[in-house]
Amino acid sequence: MDLSYGSEMEGFRDEVKAFLHESWPLSGEEGELPLEKQAAIFRERAIARGYLYRNIPVKYGGSEQAPDVLKAQIIREEFEKKWAPQEARGIGTMMLVPTLLERGEEWQKSKFVRPTITGEVTWCQGYSEPGSGSDLASLKTRGELQGDEWVINGQKIWTSGAHVADYMFCLVRTEPEESKHAGISYLLLDMKQPGIEVRPLRMMTGSADFNEVFLDDARTPADWIVGRRGEGWLVSRTTLKHERNSIGAAQQTRAGLKGLINLAKKSEIDGRPALENSAVRQRLAEVEGYVRAHQYSGYRQLTKDAKGEDAGLITMMMKLFSTEIGHKSAALSMDLLGEEGLLSAGNAELGVRASDGQGWIARYMYTLGIAVAGGTANIQRNVIAERGLGLPRDAAANRSSNK
Ligand SMILES: Cc1cc2nc3c(=O)[nH]c(=O)nc-3n(C[C@H](O)[C@H](O)[C@H](O)COP(=O)(O)OP(=O)(O)OC[C@H]3O[C@@H](n4cnc5c(N)ncnc54)[C@H](O)[C@@H]3O)c2cc1C
Repeated sequence: MDLSYGSEMEGFRDEVKAFLHESWPLSGEEGELPLEKQAAIFRERAIARGYLYRNIPVKYGGSEQAPDVLKAQIIREEFEKKWAPQEARGIGTMMLVPTLLERGEEWQKSKFVRPTITGEVTWCQGYSEPGSGSDLASLKTRGELQGDEWVINGQKIWTSGAHVADYMFCLVRTEPEESKHAGISYLLLDMKQPGIEVRPLRMMTGSADFNEVFLDDARTPADWIVGRRGEGWLVSRTTLKHERNSIGAAQQTRAGLKGLINLAKKSEIDGRPALENSAVRQRLAEVEGYVRAHQYSGYRQLTKDAKGEDAGLITMMMKLFSTEIGHKSAALSMDLLGEEGLLSAGNAELGVRASDGQGWIARYMYTLGIAVAGGTANIQRNVIAERGLGLPRDAAANRSSNK
């Protein structure tokens, strides 16, 4: 296996390194600014050099570079090494923007892309409903065109960030007479209106990041639709593809392993660093094996992308891999922390605080949730088995989805 990027690309890597050397961290007065402001200043400079938002046209705030997966990968690697701010994460940037770029109207791109990537406006994703999660196409929230407005009635659930979002991109049934997939449209919605009530749901981590959203004659202009009427399912597939790619990024699992090794150095077993304990080392080695397999699968995906080939099955496996490795890492962290693992920054209100302070328990619980978000691990396994490996359909799943 040849893992080198070639001399031309290594030259590009040197350019990126030189840019980072002079640009991050910020110095002087700029270096005293709040971190968010520093990140915004740095991002502007990185965009001007063509390093961030490469696939977004300049007129929408991006740097509009020719697609080059190797360059994009080198930028990610070098920025990560220096802890330099990368493209802002968030549902709007990672899911809506690629969808608008691929399927949106010109005015929609002009209005929404720039403020979304700068973080001026935030979005939430209104897909899931009570009873319509894995079987999303059974969703029941109705959208009716009345004059020059869509009037929307129904309920969404598990809507991350709806309590703070400015807008929602959502799926609603606009053609009830059509078959389930064909009757759905993809609408954009202003969250600050009387027809929308958001009720936060408290999670087992203690925080309340996702919500129930009740839509009671909520309104949105007729042209705030992405794609045509009844094409929402197709449009939503674009969004989901981007979400899965982002969740599957191998760098997240590598960062998790680094944190775990640091924890094993700091934690003690029988008065010695846990890292010296053979059982702990065994489990760390196991996690590292998975992390490396994930990383090399990432390279295979990269090679396919670079050749313009469909990475297919590998892309599907990446999300599954990263959620499972994340969970294994977090479970080991719980064992290393022992009783202290039950304390997190979120327990400050009880007057207790974990000395580790990294919120490993929150991470542990998060890994349980992320195996469900964006399509559950079970569904992913079935898709990989059936579409990827050509195995027969899961009889039990057939029975439940035909209900
Ligand atoms: C942290 C988090 C954030 C989320 N954020 C959002 C958000 O912002 N917006 C949004 O719209 N939704 C969001 N969701 C919801 C998420 O998309 C759904 O939870 C997910 O699609 C599963 O749907 P469900 O919860 O209804 O579970 P169900 O579909 O009821 O599934 C229950 C169980 O049955 C299994 N199952 C169901 N059908 C099959 C089948 N055919 N084959 C095999 N197994 C099956 C599932 O794998 C699962 O284990 C979020 C969820 C989480 C956990």
